Amino acid sequence: MESLYLRNLKSAVLKYSDSSNWNAAVYEWEIYDVDEDDTLSESCVCGKENLRYLFTIKNKINGNILYPIGSSCIHKFERKELNDLATIKEQLFKLLHAVESNEFIELTSEYFTRKLLRYLYDNNAFEPNQYNGFNAYKDYRFLIDMFNKRNRTYKQNQKATAIILNSIKPYLEKLLKDKIKR
Ligand SMILES: [Zn+2]
Repeated sequence: MESLYLRNLKSAVLKYSDSSNWNAAVYEWEIYDVDEDDTLSESCVCGKENLRYLFTIKNKINGNILYPIGSSCIHKFERKELNDLATIKEQLFKLLHAVESNEFIELTSEYFTRKLLRYLYDNNAFEPNQYNGFNAYKDYRFLIDMFNKRNRTYKQNQKATAIILNSIKPYLEKLLKDKIKR
């Protein structure tokens, strides 16, 4: 038996989809935006309460919008690219909070994944500047190499932290500044 939450999600999604079949309808939707609510005061369209991450999803065919959708309901669509993007969006918020509260943040798997670094590069988080010879790819490549490395020198760690603080931190602050409800 399906849970009440899942039934509520399906009926909300189907109501705004072109297809009347759930398995087809899930392919009509994409993640449009995400906000974080530190007050946990919103509820998902399925009825689940106390959401932290409020996803907006958009129908690619008819332009309909559904909001807010919780992370666990995003996963109910059972689409890998939606799941991957939802995970990255949440990691961006977590990383911003970490860089805001800890000025010595290191490149660890607590906050970083290869996919997250790739997303940051693809979205121009790395700034071309005098330290990378005005080639932002070098900083991305350096972080990937360091992330894959078991043992890093003190200097390498320092450089990685500098890139996080000088490029990634301002990028996240700008990207997420209007998206956090505290
Ligand atoms: Zn839900």
